[in-house]
Amino acid sequence: MADLTTTLIHHPYQPPPGFAAPQPGVFKASTVFFPNVAAMREFDWKDKSAYTYGLHGTPTTYTLEERLCTLEGGAQCLLVPSGLAAIATVALALLRSGDEVLIPDNAYGPSKALAEGELTHWGITHRYFDPMDPADLAAKISSRTKLVWLEAAGSVTLEFPDLRAQVGICKAAEVLCALDNTWGAGLAFKPFDLAPGAQHALAVDISIHALTKYPSGGGDVLMGSVITQDERLHMKLKLCHMRLGLGVGANDAESVLRALPSLALRYRQHDETTRTLAQWCLQCEEFAQVLHPALPQSPGHAHWQALCGNAPGAAAGLLSVIFKPAYNQQQVDAFCDALQLFKIGYSWGGPMSLVMPYQLETMRSSWPAHLQPGILVRFSIGLESAADLQADLLKALRG
Ligand SMILES: *Cc1c(COP(=O)(O)O)cnc(C)c1O
Repeated sequence: MADLTTTLIHHPYQPPPGFAAPQPGVFKASTVFFPNVAAMREFDWKDKSAYTYGLHGTPTTYTLEERLCTLEGGAQCLLVPSGLAAIATVALALLRSGDEVLIPDNAYGPSKALAEGELTHWGITHRYFDPMDPADLAAKISSRTKLVWLEAAGSVTLEFPDLRAQVGICKAAEVLCALDNTWGAGLAFKPFDLAPGAQHALAVDISIHALTKYPSGGGDVLMGSVITQDERLHMKLKLCHMRLGLGVGANDAESVLRALPSLALRYRQHDETTRTLAQWCLQCEEFAQVLHPALPQSPGHAHWQALCGNAPGAAAGLLSVIFKPAYNQQQVDAFCDALQLFKIGYSWGGPMSLVMPYQLETMRSSWPAHLQPGILVRFSIGLESAADLQADLLKALRG
């Protein structure tokens, strides 16, 4: 018999034939064996019918990619180590020196930082457009524009743009549009079917998703996806993705796979609690403005309603308030510190509620006309009871 050293490696264990269970097995690999040299030469890493190397895909990552395509209504998916890596992959794959990218002024902050940093260094220019004024987007598209980013609702300020109009403008100008779909998560609206039943299907070209947020749901995984519907566009992205050496760990993929079955249920609960708290915030005298797409007073509410309907589970779990100008930074910081259930932290989509004060004047080209002056605080509403969260807010506000 072979030495124990060998048998510990060449172990006889095989998964039982016909084994079926709620969760798929977790496959981990850098190396993937080929049956013979001829097969090694014949297999194409781009072809998903064969496995060639861990970075090119495993049964675990292929399964996750397929489920995410189902979630968002796309046809192809790439997995990357974070939501921000998904944004960067799209930029690196599609933009060349001399090109311009258009970004909404309320976009996810690090997406703007990428444009201002690396993209600028590489000779790729950017311009920010007013997310609430489709005419501004139309006016800023030029022959150099090769990519338009869209986001609904906007990060931090949660205005809801006329996404259909924005996508329509990009289509008319024949410019690729990529949506940061983290807020919608594939549940609030369908990025590849924005006007269901319409004669001409209206779809974004690319949907990126920070799986870190709702799909993971635990506040313990970083991952992103890049989903498309067009094979040629996917291949362009995929080649860049491969050359950059981007991939995800099997345990993280497993975490997301395990969390996906409860995604819609969690999203709906986040939504329900957040609407309750948004209503309550409306009658708090401390706040000059409450930002939440399902509130009729919130900027872009009509666009949200037209796209997402008003059904339960269509408005996610984010809520921002702007304190009246009488409240200074010290007072607002003290409010955040006084919260017990709300933890001070970035990100969202996990079970615990989070709070974060923002200095909007440092984030925007100029103070948007639709926002009241004052210090903004964003809440990411977790899965705790609405009554407990409301009591925590009240206590931190009024002691
Ligand atoms: C969190 C977030 C990202 C980035 O995701 P990470 O995984 O944290 O890099 C991108 N876009 C939006 C809208 C986000 O909220």
